[in-house]
Amino acid sequence: MKILVINCGSSSLKFQLIDSESEAVLGKGLCERIGIDGSVISFTPAGGDKIVKEEPMPDHNKAIALVIEALTDPATGVVKELSEIDAVGHRIVHGGEAFTKSVIIDDQVIRAIEEVSDLAPLHNPANLIGVRACEKAMPGVPMVAVFDTAFHQTMPEEAYLYGLPYRYYEQYKVRRYGFHGTSHAYVSARAAEIIGKPYDSLKTIVCHLGNGASVSAVKNGRCIDTSMGLTPLEGLIMGTRSGDIDPSVIDYISGKEHKDLKGVMTVLNKESGVYGLSGDISSDFRDLEAGYNKKDPGAIRAIHCFAYHVTKYVGAYAAAMNGVDCICFTAGVGENSPLVRKYVVERLGYLGAKLDEAANESRGKEVTISTPDSAVRIMVVPTNEELAIARDTAALVK
Ligand code: ADP
Repeated sequence: MKILVINCGSSSLKFQLIDSESEAVLGKGLCERIGIDGSVISFTPAGGDKIVKEEPMPDHNKAIALVIEALTDPATGVVKELSEIDAVGHRIVHGGEAFTKSVIIDDQVIRAIEEVSDLAPLHNPANLIGVRACEKAMPGVPMVAVFDTAFHQTMPEEAYLYGLPYRYYEQYKVRRYGFHGTSHAYVSARAAEIIGKPYDSLKTIVCHLGNGASVSAVKNGRCIDTSMGLTPLEGLIMGTRSGDIDPSVIDYISGKEHKDLKGVMTVLNKESGVYGLSGDISSDFRDLEAGYNKKDPGAIRAIHCFAYHVTKYVGAYAAAMNGVDCICFTAGVGENSPLVRKYVVERLGYLGAKLDEAANESRGKEVTISTPDSAVRIMVVPTNEELAIARDTAALVK
């Protein structure tokens, strides 16, 4: 089957066409600046060069029309006709408590996604715009919703409840949901395959370290805890998000800087993390590592704080699972930063973890970075959320 995977944001849309049998990517691309001047679509057919076109995209319907045009282009496309696309898999950020796994999209599912939209006001409405645009452009083609939150729905109450009045959970569903679930599920399952042991017999900690970053504890194939919360703001220090802080900081900074609640929340989401800690150098670890190599104090500070927080979560989750067999690093930073991995692993001696320094130098590849006598297997497992979405979609529409 040929599965179109769509990850739709408010002004961007990423897409991949995947052959579900061979799991090959037939083509992939990105629409940027949808609804803004200067819209651009880029498309790379498998084995071909990237094609970049500036085209006005006043809305997502136009973006989807251009995606279809790119995929079916007689010269550079990857399918002859639209009818070759068997199904569409959509990334949906928030499934609330309603969705514990991927589902075929129908009117009821759309309503349920709308109902939880106030938990992810920036994401879910944008995701649904993508669903509706595809429905219009490809009527009758089955579509599947794959939720970032679904994998974490197996967390026990003790992990997902906050120390707040219980009625906030009952009335407003205030709780930990967790995100990046598709990645945590894919990476933990892939790690079991690589190790050659049953998924349901392992205790795995997945460190998804990208621009957004989260850690999860996966025990016997089920997520039992994760660092992101009601929203993706909680947990690790991220690119521009603060991660965990004392909630009193909000009130205190609001007074000091004369900012309203919205203003402080913007700081926590967009001006904090390694970006803020570095003294506004960058949220990108490539820049921070360059700064680190030049002994820039801001870059050194940001990298140390980031890695320290990852180490703390690994320790917490080893405790939560009463042990750990395997620790995986994934996503942009996890796959590409030997420096961050080294700082994390060097503090895990108490778990019997030993880093293979030479293996740790590798970037972007599946590799074991612990020594053969390490008590914990430590690996880099590149994530592949699009493939995971395509797999779920193919399995459901078969
Ligand atoms: P997201 O999907 O959350 O936007 P990614 O998983 O794509 O994030 O990760 C993006 C981050 O990965 C970049 O901000 C950058 O810091 C980091 N990154 C990517 N490539 C490298 C590299 N070669 N070395 C160090 N960091 C890298």
